[in-house]
Amino acid sequence: MLEIDNLTHVYGEGPTRHHAIDGLNLSVAEGELLCIVGPSGCGKSTLLRSIAGLIKPTGGAIKVQGELVRQTPANLAVVFQDYSRSLFPWMSVADNVALPLRRKDMTKQQRREAAHEALDSVGLAEAGRKYPFQLSGGMQQRVSIARALAYRPALMLMDEPFGSVDAQTREDLEDLVLKVRGHHQMTIVLITHDIDESVYVGDRVVVLSKAPAHVVGDLKVELPSPRDQISSREHPDFVHLRAEVGRLVRGVASV
Ligand code: ADP
Repeated sequence: MLEIDNLTHVYGEGPTRHHAIDGLNLSVAEGELLCIVGPSGCGKSTLLRSIAGLIKPTGGAIKVQGELVRQTPANLAVVFQDYSRSLFPWMSVADNVALPLRRKDMTKQQRREAAHEALDSVGLAEAGRKYPFQLSGGMQQRVSIARALAYRPALMLMDEPFGSVDAQTREDLEDLVLKVRGHHQMTIVLITHDIDESVYVGDRVVVLSKAPAHVVGDLKVELPSPRDQISSREHPDFVHLRAEVGRLVRGVASV
């Protein structure tokens, strides 16, 4: 689904030059839910924006379903951390979700139905006529997830998607992602700085070094499914893996 070969990215030049990514290699299989963790500022968002075709890396190659990424791939959707800036405040929730579907060959009625179905799958079937400001932060992030789901992407990228919500909502959203990935056959790459979250949600956890980022760990997570916030987190494999990921992240962190 995704092949990253010797990715390198350098921002700016001269005194403002910053080497963000250095020789990063990674491949993600179809249907996999991969979590990427790494120290703050290591280059995780730079990596994700490169995959999404939002920045042009200075070196290396990225392929999505075998196609070299030159602009945003048509079969890709992104969920950002900052839901308050990613939803249009003047559009209803249903219109926000339906908006990207204009890129697809669908009638207005089909777009409306797809938006409703996606909102239903994130537990917001009744919220379509509301406006984003009438919803809580967690609900707004659900709308962002619904918008990505309605688009039916082959690859969904999530950049710290639960970073701006409270702890309880965060757990609910983690479970929502696990639920929807079961229904929609999708590959998901989720970026987080939360070690526990990466192990709880991921099929696999990739750990990045501090800048310039490259892969320092690649661990398979084989926790029993379905996962559960209480029992999965006390499972001996979970405890073992979070310690291992923690060691890898701290071993390379500058603090
Ligand atoms: P992370 O997501 O891991 O916190 P980022 O990918 O956002 O890290 O940023 C990695 C580094 O690149 C940071 O030190 C950041 O200051 C720098 N950076 C990010 N965007 C730019 C930019 N447009 N120009 C210059 N430096 C940037």
